[in-house]
Amino acid sequence: SEEDLALLGADGEAGPEVAEELLPVVAVVGRPNVGKSSLVNRVLGRREAVVQDVPGITRDRVSYAAEWAGQRFTLVDTGGWEKDAAGLDARVAAQAEAAVALADVVVLVVDATVGATATDEAVVRLLRRSGKPVVLAANKVDDQRGEADAALLWSLGLGEPWPVSSVHGRGSGDLLDAVLAALPDELLASRQRPSGLRRVALLGRPNVGKSSLLNKLTGSDRVVVDATAGTTRDPVDEVVELAGREWQFVDTAGIRRRTHQASGADFYASLRTQAALEKAEVAVVLVDGSEVLTEQDVRIISTVVEAGRALVLAVNKWDLLDEERRHYLERELERELVQVRWAPRVNLSALTGRHLERLVPALDVALESWGTRVPTGRLNSFLGQVVSEHPHPVRGGKQPRILFATQPSTQPPRFVVFASGFLEAGYRRFLERRLREEFGFEGSPVELGVRVRE
Ligand code: GDP
Repeated sequence: SEEDLALLGADGEAGPEVAEELLPVVAVVGRPNVGKSSLVNRVLGRREAVVQDVPGITRDRVSYAAEWAGQRFTLVDTGGWEKDAAGLDARVAAQAEAAVALADVVVLVVDATVGATATDEAVVRLLRRSGKPVVLAANKVDDQRGEADAALLWSLGLGEPWPVSSVHGRGSGDLLDAVLAALPDELLASRQRPSGLRRVALLGRPNVGKSSLLNKLTGSDRVVVDATAGTTRDPVDEVVELAGREWQFVDTAGIRRRTHQASGADFYASLRTQAALEKAEVAVVLVDGSEVLTEQDVRIISTVVEAGRALVLAVNKWDLLDEERRHYLERELERELVQVRWAPRVNLSALTGRHLERLVPALDVALESWGTRVPTGRLNSFLGQVVSEHPHPVRGGKQPRILFATQPSTQPPRFVVFASGFLEAGYRRFLERRLREEFGFEGSPVELGVRVRE
């Protein structure tokens, strides 16, 4: 893209690094069919986005990068849960609860043409108890008459209802202004990484031992467990001292509090995972070594890679593994996790404390790789050699040449290769593999983009 090119300085070196910021999180909640998804699409500026309220569809992606008036933020769409008649209220409540846990500001969407329902009121009570700022969006206000409907929503006690028509786009600017105004000051763009601590997300499906591990880590190194006013953005984070250094474990409240296994729990789990990853630099994904690796384990790992975060794989409950299980485990890992063969792995036991001291070295390696920059000169002399030994195959009488490569950004390392023609996926994978062999990148995803220059 243009952005890659803009990052190239005159001598081909990458430009100055943009300071990393923590983005505020804005969650959109509301009953089914009030128009959450269309509002989200409107905010994201996607004109032809898919808007469907099909029961049973669980979207993979729920958090999006958004921007308004120069402020970037993460928009979380909580609209993906399944609906059915029974237990609707409970599920809306669970949705609101999850949103509250992860958001800095909550946007409650109400259908102005219907007015406030008992369910809306229940959600309002829940939101109010949380103390998080709430902005009320009165949706489906397509014309003057709708304004009157919107005004009735003052009754919810959430302050001014902001009339919007997410279909026509009406009012969404004012709504977004209100959202930004509701953000706590310290989260605004000017704000920097507060504590300078490395931020770790501890992830894994239920019962793999996340809270046991967290307890063991905090217990054995004592110091810890502090809501750290003024140093963390969020009281759900914890500062944990490991190997003499402090680390910020993000969203630990979600680990410590047993999340109930209602239907739709998968969706909330994935929402939490994504929200935690937004805030983290590195993820420790815990799997249960005593059980067969599941699809959910693999999905969590893929989410980390897609989010571009560093990754450490931790295999827990090692104390339960006998010879035979270990043998099969190795084969499962080999088979299911080929795409993250680069991740450092620690075989540990949260119960006995086995190998816990290996976590920090693994985190260090992964974070170091994640921030690695390869100088352009070195990158090009290396690639020149690789390409001369293994040129791109000739296809249809043509053979794309590689002209130049650079690494415009880190965290994770991202490379851009300029070529005279399209590079086949197989060849791109080959290049990535050779880059890894040469420069390491243990514990970090690596992105490789190609720009075709005629
Ligand atoms: P979470 O849902 O991921 O937070 O999992 P928990 O920490 O609640 O652990 C789930 C269950 O696994 C509990 O019964 C723990 O006692 C048990 N457990 C956790 N870690 C280990 C371990 O290393 N070895 C053994 N044997 N059991 C463990």
